[in-house]
Amino acid sequence: MKRVDVVVVGGGIHGVGVAQAVAGAGHSVLLLEKKKLAAGTSSRSSKLIHGGLRYLESGQFHLVRESLRERRILLSIAPELVELKPFFLPLYRTTRRQPWQLRLGLSIYALLGGLGPESRFASVPKSEWDSLDGLQTRGLRTVLRYFDAQTDDLALTRAVMRSAEYLGAERASPAELFAAEVRADSVIAQYTHDGAPQECEAQVLVNAAGPWVKRVMDRITPRIESPSIELVQGSHILVRDTVRQGIYYVESPRDGRAIFVMPWRSNMLVGTTETRFRGDPDGVQPLAAEKHYLVNVLRHYFPRHAQLTVGDLLDSFAGVRVLPAGRGHAFHRSRETLLICDRDDHPRVLGIYGGKLTGYRATAEQVVQRISGSLPTRKPRGDTRTLRLTPD
Ligand SMILES: Cc1cc2nc3c(=O)[nH]c(=O)nc-3n(C[C@H](O)[C@H](O)[C@H](O)COP(=O)(O)OP(=O)(O)OC[C@H]3O[C@@H](n4cnc5c(N)ncnc54)[C@H](O)[C@@H]3O)c2cc1C
Repeated sequence: MKRVDVVVVGGGIHGVGVAQAVAGAGHSVLLLEKKKLAAGTSSRSSKLIHGGLRYLESGQFHLVRESLRERRILLSIAPELVELKPFFLPLYRTTRRQPWQLRLGLSIYALLGGLGPESRFASVPKSEWDSLDGLQTRGLRTVLRYFDAQTDDLALTRAVMRSAEYLGAERASPAELFAAEVRADSVIAQYTHDGAPQECEAQVLVNAAGPWVKRVMDRITPRIESPSIELVQGSHILVRDTVRQGIYYVESPRDGRAIFVMPWRSNMLVGTTETRFRGDPDGVQPLAAEKHYLVNVLRHYFPRHAQLTVGDLLDSFAGVRVLPAGRGHAFHRSRETLLICDRDDHPRVLGIYGGKLTGYRATAEQVVQRISGSLPTRKPRGDTRTLRLTPD
């Protein structure tokens, strides 16, 4: 039977991030991915490496500070994959958030981001509004410009996996974990690799299966208590045409939710929605209502798309997030990542619940800290804060 220090289930951004951090700490690691790298949420995100300006509204200062620190690290270690971009916040007479509220929010954002050059923000002079990609100017009071970053989530996931492999991590895919048994001092993982059943003994199993996290937990014996979670799907539409100046951060005229209009390759991406999801995340698809909602946002803010219909879309895709179960709208729910272990001392199983693309490296660092007591002492091989990430 194969033996490794850590077996990681899931080849999304969290799984590859953990594989890289574990290998960097000098441990042997095997990553199992049932489809392809980033086949789940990690290729269907909004592709932003950001602090999350809107999380200030729900008081998630710790998350915003950590995300802005991670943005700084990623800009330095992955300059070909993570690019700082101007973000435009147009404020109309009808916008629910007031200019002073957004200025205050951007000042706090700058403060939490360490007041570096990427923290600067300003109003766009009225004389320059015509250069803003045809943005609706009727009723426009102010446009604020600040900076955040954009990435290619699939390429980033691949780059982190390559770095992990360089440090000695192994990957099996397609490889699906179908059962695991926790013993006194190890875990036996049972999986299929290219259709053939395999077994592996590890000191720790890390469940990084994203929206499948609970399904994977349910395959582990003895049973591990899972936190109560909700799955929420988010959709994006891809529109022929582009925006050249940067990313537009607009408020849905229907319900005030924040929506991004972003350049994507030579086209334009608009998203995201938040719709409760039930069922198997393998089958997630954008709903007709979500596509209509996003088309309406674009028509409202970019008059040249006033005639756009769902039939004109180039493409659309949906991803599923894991949020703590709770009352009220998903939009206001905590985005902090939960790390759940089977036991406090020397855990054999750790599950990652929720999280953000932006924070994957910090999460992976925390995972290594939580499981290090269960692992043998090894000589570190690399630090994820400085290991360079490059595209294919
Ligand atoms: C619509 C949307 C937009 C978002 N936008 C942003 C953003 O702009 N910026 C940001 O920072 N964050 C964003 N997020 C959050 C971020 O995308 C996710 O937190 C992140 O991608 C989750 O990664 P993951 O590795 O946990 O899960 P996933 O990427 O879903 O990976 C889980 C993997 O596990 C595999 N798997 C499942 N079961 C098994 C099994 N039994 N055996 C083996 N493999 C298995 C799956 O095939 C999958 O590849 C967004 C999320 C959504 C839904």
